[in-house]
Amino acid sequence: ILILAIESSCDETAASVVKNGRTILSNVISSQIDTHTAYGGVVPEIASREHIKAINYVIERALTEAAVTLADITAIGVTYGPGLVGALLVGVAEAKAIAYAAQKPLIGVHHIEGHVSANFIENKDLEPPFVCLIVSGGHTHLVIVKDYGEFEIIGRTRDDAAGEAFDKVARAVGLGYPGGPKVDRAAKEGNPHAIEFPRGKVADSPYDFSFSGLKSAVLNYINHAKMTGEEICVPDLAASFQNSVVDSLVSRAILAAKEYGYQKLAIAGGVASNTALRAVMEEACKKNGISFYHPSPVFCTDNAAMIGVAAYYEYIRGKRSGWDLNAVPNLKLGER
Ligand code: ATP
Ligand code: MG
Ligand code: FE
Repeated sequence: ILILAIESSCDETAASVVKNGRTILSNVISSQIDTHTAYGGVVPEIASREHIKAINYVIERALTEAAVTLADITAIGVTYGPGLVGALLVGVAEAKAIAYAAQKPLIGVHHIEGHVSANFIENKDLEPPFVCLIVSGGHTHLVIVKDYGEFEIIGRTRDDAAGEAFDKVARAVGLGYPGGPKVDRAAKEGNPHAIEFPRGKVADSPYDFSFSGLKSAVLNYINHAKMTGEEICVPDLAASFQNSVVDSLVSRAILAAKEYGYQKLAIAGGVASNTALRAVMEEACKKNGISFYHPSPVFCTDNAAMIGVAAYYEYIRGKRSGWDLNAVPNLKLGER
C-alpha cells in the first residue's frame, strides 16, 4: 500500500510517499521560514500564497524521489486540520483534485495524529497502547494512544503551548524566529540553574500544564534588567527557562506512565526535537523502567511523512473522506 501524503497546515509545504505505513520512500519539505522571518512570525496570507507556489513542485519531487508515478499510489492522505484555514485549504484542494482525477481514495488526516504517528517511522516495534506527550507550536497534550488514531486526552495546557512559550521568550530576548531551535542552541552555553523561574502548576489537575506564569516571569526578568541597566546573560536565561519547561513536561509524562501503568512513553511535535527535553526524558524513563520513543528531529517538526503514516492506519481501518472534505482550522484531537 502506497500513500501519497500532503501537509500544508502552517508554514511548511510538504509531500511524502509512504509504503505500508512505516517505510518512507520520500519526504519533501519546502519551508517558508525565510519568507516569514522578516515579520517575526507566520503571516497567514503569505503562507497560503507560498503554499500555492510550492505545492505542485513538492508533490512532483516526492513522487520522483520515491521512484513511483501517481498510478502506483493506493490513496491520497492530506492534513485537513487543525491549522491556518487558508494554508490547509491549499493542501485539501490539491489532494481532492489529484484524488478525483486519478480516481484514488481520499483520506483526511488530523495534523496532531500525524505528529504522534511520526513515532512509528523509526520505532518499528512501537505499537499502541502507550503514553504520548504532544508538544508543538499550538498544542501541549498528554494522551494515551489506545489504538491507531484513538486517543484519550489526560492532560493539556491551560494557556500557552510549549512551542508558543519558546517562540515568545525567544522573541523577547532578541533571539528571533523561529524561537525553539534558537533557545535550544543558546541554552547549551548557559547554566540551567542560574535563574530561578517558576514551574507552572494547575491546582487539582496533575496532568495539566501552564506556561503563562513562566512566560510572565521571564518577561519581568527582562524588563527589570532593562530598567536597572543590568546585562542579561542570554544563554543563562535560555537554559533556565528551558529547564523549567522541561521539568514540567517530564514530571507529568512520567507520572502519567506510572499512574496509568504504561511502560512505553513517546514524545511528538516540534518541541520533541528539543535536546534538553530528549535527554532529561531519556534519563527519567531509564530510572523508571519505561521505554522511551521519539522521532528524529526532521519527523518532529511539520512534515508529510507523518501524515502518510497516519493516513495508512486510517486507510486500513476503512476511513475514506468524501469530495466535500473541507479544512477545519480548529479541529480537536479525537474529532472526525
Ligand atoms: P501544531 O502542530 O500544534 O499545529 P505547529 O505545526 O506550528 O503547531 P510544529 O511544527 O509541530 O508546530 O512545531 C513547531 C514548534 O516547535 C515551534 O513553536 C518551534 O519553536 C518549536 N521547536 C522546534 N524545534 C525546537 C527545539 N529544538 N526546542 C524547542 N522548541 C522547538
Ligand atoms: Mg512550521
Ligand atoms: Fe505541527
